[in-house]
Amino acid sequence: MPDPSFRVCIIHLDRAKGEIVAFGDKNTHIGGSGLAAALFEKYGLPDEPWSHPDQPLIFALGCLTGYFPLMSKVVAGFKSPYHDQYAESHAGGRLPLAMRFTGYDAIVLRGRAPGPVAVHVGSRIIETKDANYLWGANALTTGRVIRRVFPGASGHRSILRIGPAGETLSAYACINVDTFRHFGRLGSGSVMGVKNVKALVVSGDGNMDLPGSSTKKYAKLFRKVYKDMTATEMMSKYHDLGTPVNVAPLNALKSLPIRNLLQTTDPEAQGISGERFGNDLLIRNAACAGCPVGCIHVGMLRERFQDEHRFQIRQVAYDYELIFALGAMVGIMDASNALALMDEVEKQGLDAMSTGVALAWATEAYQKGMLSKEQVEYDLAFGNVQAYKEAIWCLGHAKNEFYRDLARGTLHAARKYGGEDFACVLGQEMAGYATGETFFASQSLSFRHSHLDTGAYGYDQKKHDKNPDKVVAYLVKDERERVLLTSLVSCLFARGVYTKELLAECLACVDLPDLAKNMDAAAEEMQRLRWRMRLATGYVPEKTKVPKRFLEVETWAGKMDPAYLDAVRAAYIKAIYELGAARKNETE
Ligand code: SF4
Repeated sequence: MPDPSFRVCIIHLDRAKGEIVAFGDKNTHIGGSGLAAALFEKYGLPDEPWSHPDQPLIFALGCLTGYFPLMSKVVAGFKSPYHDQYAESHAGGRLPLAMRFTGYDAIVLRGRAPGPVAVHVGSRIIETKDANYLWGANALTTGRVIRRVFPGASGHRSILRIGPAGETLSAYACINVDTFRHFGRLGSGSVMGVKNVKALVVSGDGNMDLPGSSTKKYAKLFRKVYKDMTATEMMSKYHDLGTPVNVAPLNALKSLPIRNLLQTTDPEAQGISGERFGNDLLIRNAACAGCPVGCIHVGMLRERFQDEHRFQIRQVAYDYELIFALGAMVGIMDASNALALMDEVEKQGLDAMSTGVALAWATEAYQKGMLSKEQVEYDLAFGNVQAYKEAIWCLGHAKNEFYRDLARGTLHAARKYGGEDFACVLGQEMAGYATGETFFASQSLSFRHSHLDTGAYGYDQKKHDKNPDKVVAYLVKDERERVLLTSLVSCLFARGVYTKELLAECLACVDLPDLAKNMDAAAEEMQRLRWRMRLATGYVPEKTKVPKRFLEVETWAGKMDPAYLDAVRAAYIKAIYELGAARKNETE
């Protein structure tokens, strides 16, 4: 039986040295989310701030990555500048396969480089190169330069980089992965920035053994999984119009957050529908390495030069969340204009969802006279694309005191300038689902404050009785099933295909029969470990709030029920403390 430990590459940035260690056990920690939490437990400093040089920035793979389709994500684990607690973010691109071909299950950045550097990791190389000349460059320019500086292993090479927002330490700076993918939420870009790492290049320059003792059996199983993936509705849904297909139904269900959630439906939203993007702007689809679905939609942005006679075409990726945040939420109901904001956010290296929601709050606060023109600098008004473009630049560069405050989070700014009631924050800036109490309770409390933590927004869209205990039992179970997938690490779009039975077959095929038998118990333990890390780094769930604006929402199911929302939150808080209390066998 192969060695069940993980091979982890730890890079000490202060000394520009690397070490390879054997860590943990695949049968216990699984990989991805579980492995990242276990590495944080060992190397993290719970009581020190996120910016402490010795806080680790962890990138963790799953044990099925590279062997089966859509096992195509990497989990980043870090202490977040957003709330100074343990956090996770997920991304794909070429990174998972590149890491697999380095032979490392995880890469951990520790320490702080003496000055800006680009770090290069391959199967036989760990090096840092001076990147002083790139400090201040936007994320797209940085990608272009880094591709020339590290030309090898093309196709098996992944480039992570930050924009100005990661340098100015925004609480929602992202890490751009291979241009079209991101470690988006909760500020991992600033964790790279505070370590003086402008770029991380992963060269998959090694070999990868075929798994298991029987290559015939593996080949047969691979073909079956591939066929299942490409034959399902998922394939056509995510490939054809992609997630933007959700704009029209959510608008019809009165669940599309519009103009800082002052509305949840508007006929004008057809200007940013998936159909409009597909018909008018789509140039091509792209895919994470090893994915036959290709859900990444790349649109055409036509940009005029200043002389007004010439223009250039730029390629910008879009999906539902970006359309909600940089379209509907800021009242931009024209697909080209929304794409222009996505492009600016990309350059600054900001999380698109947090940026859109923060600017929507700033717009309302400015219109209500809580912010002055001197502070916001541009005439922020719903639909004013030029003002938003400038404001995004100001956010990325932390231009003045107001933008520095806003870059620390909408609620942080609202506490200082007023307008907490209409700050659309649920643990972090909201995701694009104004579906009802279950989603609001879930995002405000869940582990990543992400719409992907649980299926809460789907739950709201079905008729159900108002039973808080039943809802919370569903949220906890659903999270556990997702933790298994994000530990392996699957794209969550494949969750309908990767049933427990199929996952067990895959694990047995890569010589992990014990994990195949114990998946549920291992997933539960990793779910608990993640919560332990979150609570150990200072999470107090009852301190999270659901601002008043959410209670004013009216969906297809009617007005919000504040008493029911409070009851769901109370039951969920209790469940979180139980999950994070101790190891399961210590609580029994
Ligand atoms: S479905 Fe989309 S996000 Fe998921 S792996 Fe494929 S291309 Fe990447």
